[in-house]
Amino acid sequence: MKIEIQRLPASKLKVKPSDPMKLPFGSVFTDYMLTMRYQNGAWLPPRIEPYGPLALDPASMVFHYGQGIFEGLKAYRKGKEIFLFRARDNFNRLNASAKRMVMPEIDVTTAMESLKELLLLERDWVPEAKGSSLYIRPTMIATEPRLGVRPANEYLYYVILSPVGPYFKEGFNPVGVLVSEKYVRSVRGGVGYAKTLVNYATGLLGLKEAMDSGYPQVLWLDAIERKYIEETATMNIFVRFKDEIATPPLSGTILPGITRASVIELTRDWGYAVNERLITIDELVAGLRTGKVIEVFGTGTAALIAPIGQIAYGGAVHKVSGGTAGELSLRLFEHLAGLQRGDTADKHGWMESIRW
Ligand SMILES: *Cc1c(COP(=O)(O)O)cnc(C)c1O
Repeated sequence: MKIEIQRLPASKLKVKPSDPMKLPFGSVFTDYMLTMRYQNGAWLPPRIEPYGPLALDPASMVFHYGQGIFEGLKAYRKGKEIFLFRARDNFNRLNASAKRMVMPEIDVTTAMESLKELLLLERDWVPEAKGSSLYIRPTMIATEPRLGVRPANEYLYYVILSPVGPYFKEGFNPVGVLVSEKYVRSVRGGVGYAKTLVNYATGLLGLKEAMDSGYPQVLWLDAIERKYIEETATMNIFVRFKDEIATPPLSGTILPGITRASVIELTRDWGYAVNERLITIDELVAGLRTGKVIEVFGTGTAALIAPIGQIAYGGAVHKVSGGTAGELSLRLFEHLAGLQRGDTADKHGWMESIRW
C-alpha cells in the first residue's frame, strides 16, 4: 500500500519525553497521525500528516448525535522490532462497533497496513523500558455538517499515538470498586458491546460517584434485574472461586474485551475450569464472606490485569484476597506482559511484529 506522508522538517519534531515511565496515561502525543476520510459512499486512501487539531464544522453530526467509536491497543518495542498484540481483533471489533452505530466499516488489511506505516515512521516514539508502551487510539467520527437525525454520510477515521508508562504507578496494587446501585451502563438491545463514546458519556456520573467515594472504578450491574455483575468502566471482570474461574457472558451488554478473551484461553490452557456465566452480586459478596471467592480482577488493554481489593456494595465494604493482589492475577499479568514484550513464547499466534 502506498500511503501519502506529509512530513515535518526535523526542526518541527517534538522533544520526546525523557522518562516515559513517568508519563500520565494519554497525556503526550507523537508527531504524526493517520487520517482517512469517507465521502460519497467510499473510503479515500489513508494519509499520514502532522499531529494537530482537526478542523471540524460545528454542525458535524458527531457533536449532535454521538456517532463515534474507537479502539485501544498498544505497541511494544524491542531493539529494531515493534510488537502488536491481536491488533486485527481490534479492527474487527471496530467494524462491529461501526455496524451497530450505522457507520461504514473499514478494510482490516488497510487498517493494519496503514497502522504499521505510521508505527514505522514513529518507531522512535515507542518506548523500550519494561512496563512502557505506545498506546494506539483508532477513532471514527461522523463529520457530515448537518442537523437532522439520521446516519451521517461523511466520516473521519484517524489514529493517534501516545507513549505511556505502566498503568500502576505504585506497582501491582489492588483497586477498590463501588457497585453502582443507582445507574446502569447498558441494556440488552442497546450499545453495550460497541466501543462507542456514548457508553462512556452515560457512565461518567456513576464513575464520578465511585471516585468521589474513594473508589477508582465503578462496577456495573445489569440494567433489568440489577442483580448480575457486568463489568467496570473500562475493564471486564473475572471472579476466581475455589473451584472455578467465572466471567459474565457476552450477551450484548458488555464489551467483548480482547484481554478478556485472552485470559479465558490462557487460564483454560493452564488447566482451570473457566465458565462464561451469570454471576449475581449476592453470589460474589457471599463468596467473599465464606472464602469461596479467592480473587477478583479486571482485564483491559490499558492496565492488562487489575486486581480488585475491595468491593463496596449496599453500604458495606467487602475485602478480596485480604486486600492484596491475588496469585493468578499476578501470573496472568506477568505472562501477558512478557508475551507483549516479545519475551514469552507466543503459542497462540497473537503477536505480530514490524522490523526494520
Ligand atoms: C475497551 C474496553 C474493555 C477492555 O477491552 P480490551 O480489548 O481488553 O482492551 C472493557 N470494557 C469496556 C467498557 C471497554 O471499553
